[in-house]
Amino acid sequence: MQPPPAGHCLSCGNRLASRREGDHARQACPVCGWVYYPKSNMASAVALVQEGQVLMVRRKHEPFQGQWTLPSGFMEYGEGPEEAAVRELKEELDVEVELTGLVGVLMERGDPRGPCLLVVYTGRIASGRPKAGDDAAEVRAFPLDRLPDQIAFQAHRQALETIRSLP
Ligand SMILES: [Zn+2]
Repeated sequence: MQPPPAGHCLSCGNRLASRREGDHARQACPVCGWVYYPKSNMASAVALVQEGQVLMVRRKHEPFQGQWTLPSGFMEYGEGPEEAAVRELKEELDVEVELTGLVGVLMERGDPRGPCLLVVYTGRIASGRPKAGDDAAEVRAFPLDRLPDQIAFQAHRQALETIRSLP
């Protein structure tokens, strides 16, 4: 996948120039030396599974507005995946969660905002009752064998497949 080009240096604002680093074509600043290293986004998701049901949220915003996902969100700069998972569940569902395991680390390439590395955990609610926060139109528990038809993001669908196959 080709990253979006960056026109100007994020450090000093001068125009970037092309430079080769081994096999990679980079954009670098001829004035201050800043190099543009494009990266995938990173996000965490949590599967709260109880009695064969998994909690999902319906997206309030684009992309994939109206479709269902595991509760999830982007990591902030410097934030770890577990911290992001716990914070996002607080923001999205107003619950304190305890992470109980790792489902997987999956690559999402179908997000129009850019490729994203998704870290998916299992968890349980330590306190609070889930209710839809700012980014969620609705929150609902689905039986794992009767998931909604419209699930946003291939990585979420893949994670749910994995969760379904867990003993
Ligand atoms: Zn510069």
